Amino acid sequence: MTRMERELHHRDRVGVQDAVLLENYTDEAEFIGNLKKRFKEDLIYTYIGQVLISVNPYKELNIYTANDIKAYTRKHFFEVPPHIFAVTDTAYRSLKEENLEQCILISGESGAGKTEASRKILQYIAEVEQNGKVKTVKNKLMESTFLLEAFGNAKTNRNDNSSRFGKYMDIMFNFEGDPVAGNVLSYLLEKSRVIRQAPGERNFHIFYQLLSSGSNETLEELHLSHKLEGYYYLTDGEKGKLKYIDDHGDFKKVKTSLDTLEFPEDRQKEIFSILAAILNLGNINFHTINEKLKVRQLELLETVSQLFGCNPESLHNALTHRTVETTRDTVKTPLDYDQATYARDALAKAAYDRLFSWLVQFINRALSPNDYRKLLSMGILDIYGFEIFDKNSFEQLCINFCNEKLQQLFIELTLKSEQQEYENEGIVWHKVDYFDNKIICDLIEERHKGMISLMDEECLRPGDSSDLTLLAKLDKRLDSHSHYISHKKADSKMQKIMGRDEFCLIHYAGSVTYNIQGFLEKNQDLLYRDLREVMSNSTNTIISEIFPAAELKSKKMPDTAITKFRNSLNVLLTILTEKQPSYIRCIKSNDNKAPGYFDDQLVQHQVQYLGLMENLRVRRAGFAYRRIYEKFLNRYKSLCKNTWPNYRGDPKDGVHELVKSLGYSSEEYGLGKTKIFIKHPQTLFKTEDAFQAK
Ligand code: ATP
Ligand code: MG
Repeated sequence: MTRMERELHHRDRVGVQDAVLLENYTDEAEFIGNLKKRFKEDLIYTYIGQVLISVNPYKELNIYTANDIKAYTRKHFFEVPPHIFAVTDTAYRSLKEENLEQCILISGESGAGKTEASRKILQYIAEVEQNGKVKTVKNKLMESTFLLEAFGNAKTNRNDNSSRFGKYMDIMFNFEGDPVAGNVLSYLLEKSRVIRQAPGERNFHIFYQLLSSGSNETLEELHLSHKLEGYYYLTDGEKGKLKYIDDHGDFKKVKTSLDTLEFPEDRQKEIFSILAAILNLGNINFHTINEKLKVRQLELLETVSQLFGCNPESLHNALTHRTVETTRDTVKTPLDYDQATYARDALAKAAYDRLFSWLVQFINRALSPNDYRKLLSMGILDIYGFEIFDKNSFEQLCINFCNEKLQQLFIELTLKSEQQEYENEGIVWHKVDYFDNKIICDLIEERHKGMISLMDEECLRPGDSSDLTLLAKLDKRLDSHSHYISHKKADSKMQKIMGRDEFCLIHYAGSVTYNIQGFLEKNQDLLYRDLREVMSNSTNTIISEIFPAAELKSKKMPDTAITKFRNSLNVLLTILTEKQPSYIRCIKSNDNKAPGYFDDQLVQHQVQYLGLMENLRVRRAGFAYRRIYEKFLNRYKSLCKNTWPNYRGDPKDGVHELVKSLGYSSEEYGLGKTKIFIKHPQTLFKTEDAFQAK
């Protein structure tokens, strides 16, 4: 049976491998039906051209073995069934053979399989080139991933191992194509989880791992006990141990990771000491004696101070007072109960967040190359997808802003460049309309006028600014924008579901209503100076490093949370723009982590906000495949007597001869300046079959 026949024969049962082949390609139901058909046959991968769609099976599939890796090594993309290994191999070949830097962008909602996908990519990279020399680097890359998951992932109601930070990892290759180094950038760790978790959720894995580490001695040294219920910071959400998470075993793995990455023993101790300090800090309470607010448990305060490596009196003072500097003098004011509780939690969050950044930096040092020259990198981006919850807050705005920016990049790199290529090559085709979301990016980030500027203005304004004054400002200044809907502007139907403390943004992926409560505080991200000062004097070298004294001297206002995020995002986009992108779109099959169950409606939502139908439309309007003349001719020249064994003239003329003799119809292909463009993959399959049969 030829490939073509096989393809047609299986179509009924297993659908088509590339949605470009669907007859009614504009029909969403047909598109989803195809994914479902394949999913039922455990075929979780499908293409839209070069974009890979992956539907989470929630069960182990036997498709990631060493044999599978072999089957995808050095294969042409269209000659093998869709697979994440095919995408990785193609990117890897392009890096190695054409010296082009790569990036693989993975998107999808929580639980869709992004992190699993990035693991498979790493697995492929680690196994594809068997070279003893670089084994240590590969090990370090793997171990760093595990370590970051221990500190940055948590059980949520959507995913038992949910990444609570965005991650971009560069793997750097030498000219032989061996991975020799790496670098990680992390984004927006969800630090509020340190102090509070939703019902059914957990704090970051590492806390439970540490508490179940099993060594009483270590725990005693850290003033910790096995009892999870004893820690205020662990008792909001899921209580106790979970059957399906092996914290004890994972702690051992964390130790191995730390050792492999060559964290010195004393640094490791300091890390655990900070974690223990945070857990104990959460148990500190306040009461009023002689009209003065004091820490209730002085012994505990001693413990926390010892673990943080700081002076107990100073810490006591800093937890209950605040020094405010005015132009003339400094005033020390006592905090009330709520303010002190806020300060305590802010310290816990800041210490954890900064520890996490420190870990990333340490890992980067361990992964850094001896020599940066002549290295080419492949980046993997595993970052939170678009979020629409019942209640959306500051975090969702940041995350959705990030997705808008990535969509811009997608447009830039694929849609625009697709059109650009036709123009450059002089190919006639019909322009396709697509929605350019630049207008939403501008609404959020435009200087002086955008939401971020307005938020920062309100945050930094002294006096009576509050969430509601911020909302009033946004409403006033943005109300004329077509993608901003205030309560006042909303139609009557929408007004009913929208609160007065809410505003709505029409994102490219759909409308999201945000609640303004907490925006100002979260954006300001304030940690009182007094606490930072105490920490900067710590004898714990990590603590004094992450709370540097220099920060206290700086007169400049620190950047707000969203400004910091925007800046880091822009750096990321600059990095990505310079690389060849590959896209992996992950889809969650159902909300119950049920193996093999495909929830049509849930999938439909994701298809919509991943913009897959638009992607398909643009892809179909154009030509599915393109090849440089020389390459095309070289492969298929044996199929035509005029080009065999060698064509002496211009390769373009040779290709023309070739396709005429192959019987391509004129609308099926286009001849550009340097490449042949082929409309449907079937045409290429047919040619490939003829070639294979020879
Ligand atoms: P988050 O945004 O919350 O981090 P995510 O997209 O990274 O989510 P993963 O942690 O990768 O989601 O996947 C969630 C779970 O789904 C995994 O723990 C695993 O059980 C299952 N899963 C994902 N991809 C696959 C796959 N290819 N094969 C088998 N199971 C998978
Ligand atoms: Mg993840």
